[in-house]
Amino acid sequence: MKCAESAVVEAPTGLVVRVAVDAPQHSGLNAPLDYASERVLASGSLVRVPLGKRELLGIVWPGDAIGEPAPALRPVTAVFDALPPLGPAWCRLLDFAAGYYQRSVGELASAVLPPQLRELSPEQLSARLRKLHKKPARAAAAEPVRPALAAEQAEAVARIQAQLAAPSPKPMLLFGVTGSGKTEVYLRAAEAALASGRQVLVLVPEINLTPQLEARFTERFAALLPEPLAIVSLHSALTPAQRLQNWLAAHLGRARLVLGTRLAVFASLPDLGLIVVDEEHDPSYKQQDGARYSARDLAVWRAHDAKVPVVLGSATPSLESWQHAESGRYERLTLTTRIGGGALPRVKLFDMKALPPSAGVTTALTAPLLAALKERLDRGEQSLVFLNRRGYAPVLHCGECQWKSDCPHCSAWRVFHKRDRTLRCHHCGFTERVPQACPNCGNHDIAPLGRGTERLEEQLAEALPGARVMRIDADSTRRKGELEAQLQAVHDGDVDILVGTQMITKGHDFRRIRFVAAVNPDGALFSSDFRAPERLFALLMQAGGRAGRDAAGESPAEMWVQTWHRDHALYQALARHDYVRFARDQLAERQSAGLPPFAHLALLRAEARTAEAAQAFLAAAAELMQDDGVLVYPPVPHAVARVADVERMQMLLEAPQRGRLQACLRAWVPALIALKRERSAEFRAVLRWAVDVDPLAI
Ligand code: ADP
Ligand code: ZN
Ligand code: ZN
Repeated sequence: MKCAESAVVEAPTGLVVRVAVDAPQHSGLNAPLDYASERVLASGSLVRVPLGKRELLGIVWPGDAIGEPAPALRPVTAVFDALPPLGPAWCRLLDFAAGYYQRSVGELASAVLPPQLRELSPEQLSARLRKLHKKPARAAAAEPVRPALAAEQAEAVARIQAQLAAPSPKPMLLFGVTGSGKTEVYLRAAEAALASGRQVLVLVPEINLTPQLEARFTERFAALLPEPLAIVSLHSALTPAQRLQNWLAAHLGRARLVLGTRLAVFASLPDLGLIVVDEEHDPSYKQQDGARYSARDLAVWRAHDAKVPVVLGSATPSLESWQHAESGRYERLTLTTRIGGGALPRVKLFDMKALPPSAGVTTALTAPLLAALKERLDRGEQSLVFLNRRGYAPVLHCGECQWKSDCPHCSAWRVFHKRDRTLRCHHCGFTERVPQACPNCGNHDIAPLGRGTERLEEQLAEALPGARVMRIDADSTRRKGELEAQLQAVHDGDVDILVGTQMITKGHDFRRIRFVAAVNPDGALFSSDFRAPERLFALLMQAGGRAGRDAAGESPAEMWVQTWHRDHALYQALARHDYVRFARDQLAERQSAGLPPFAHLALLRAEARTAEAAQAFLAAAAELMQDDGVLVYPPVPHAVARVADVERMQMLLEAPQRGRLQACLRAWVPALIALKRERSAEFRAVLRWAVDVDPLAI
């Protein structure tokens, strides 16, 4: 690796600097490490330092070094002088997040900084910076047309403006039904913050939604922000060079508006003035490996720390945020009506029990549903059919010997994909050609069981000849540009029936859809995960929200839900679009069961070659728990216990207060690191362990 020549001189009589560097957690090197430097380095400076035999990116960390200058201290190898240091607010954010989620600052920094920073030498980075300054200006843009605000929007914007001027603004929850114009509120709030010379950060849950959002923000602000790189996005689908460029633009203050997915919450924003978190309830805001942070929660912390407003927007807020609004910790802004007077779709709870035993083509495509789709088709209207399961069928089955297409490496079925005739494991990726005959008994009659989107697409096309059916899911959009093209076809009216997974239920401003059907949503009602009803309700409200967004259609918009449990409280609340009622019921249940947001949880996860080893490690960990006020549940297997031949177990911790849980984890995690190290022979089969604070999936 190429190193810079600056500051490489060994300096026994020099200074000691603290550097945050990505040391492996299990090495026990959690705090920033001391290095020698021949000159003073400002906190937040990017440097390269040796660690063991490697040379790593590091950040000079605020705070006093612990050690004395000593000949044994290794020197900083290079300094990225061309880059202004990361600010104190950014370092505080990292300190907080690392402490809260029980990771080292160095590890977290390395995970959230653009990957290219790790590869470039100081000279190469200087070159990138020069290039950034030479970016040509964009073509002059026309003054945007701003729609007149609806009364509720105007009220919400006024209250955000009041918070923008407040010395210690309160977080705000923008509770607005689908199609009520939340994005316009974000745009106006951003405009106000930009006008006062501040940077704005807008977070969205899905990469898929960034192009659409970027287009809307660019259209609105291109004239106001003509400088190159004044509006940038940050997400993992950018090329490494783009990601570095956009990150640098934000860090240098050139980017005034930063749009991104969860990782963007860590953008360096020296003039931050406003944070918006769209669809704040979305589970994608929680990182699912490494440092398992919640970008939504960190956005709230960051806004509080920077004394700037944060707007959390949703039609179905997370129960955590809703409870904060109820208790008055957050200010609630409410949009109750759809823009343009479009009504929310009428919800029809179709009772599967009422079907005569032999009716319909299949149970998922009931005859009445097909009739309803046909009616819309004849009127030239678009419909959306939603099923949260991709592939053709979730499992292949042999009627002779009862063989099923299980995955040899996971405790899961392999999904049958008819298109490319494969059996694919959605957990470990293991893929094989579909066998000609049962691999167990040779029977040629192996058949798909159940239904995924691929099969639904096929059956719809068969049952409704002439209908233009299109499927959108992770399989149909694998290649770059495919999703955009597919969405465009929907917008252009080249599609009659859109079939897909939750991918199509989120955020899209479809104007022509008047009918939405959920064919098989019951599964989540009886899940062991206490958050499953909350997720299902949000998903169905979102899906329904895609219908009737344009009031111009002559027929009423409708949502069709096929269920065996039509009297269930969740569906009854859904039928009335009554989030408030649903939230009240759920919160009452959570309170009496002692669940979040009335209790605080952490999971210790262990992955091992055998379930016994994982279990033994968790049991030993439980014995090290010092605090009687933290309840430790017995270890249980993960919902999918084995993935890629690794056994996964987890153990739940529960505490009445967040502070209590945090204090306990602070003492416990180092004890776990020591446990694994000191009894390494005993726990050899344990491959990994990690703490997940505020876990989303239990
Ligand atoms: P939400 O995010 O709440 O579902 P959107 O922000 O997508 O809703 O708004 C729905 C539609 O209404 C969009 O097409 C948007 O351009 C339009 N819209 C929003 N506010 C106004 C307004 N004040 N006047 C006219 N159209 C508006
Ligand atoms: Zn068989
Ligand atoms: Zn597998």
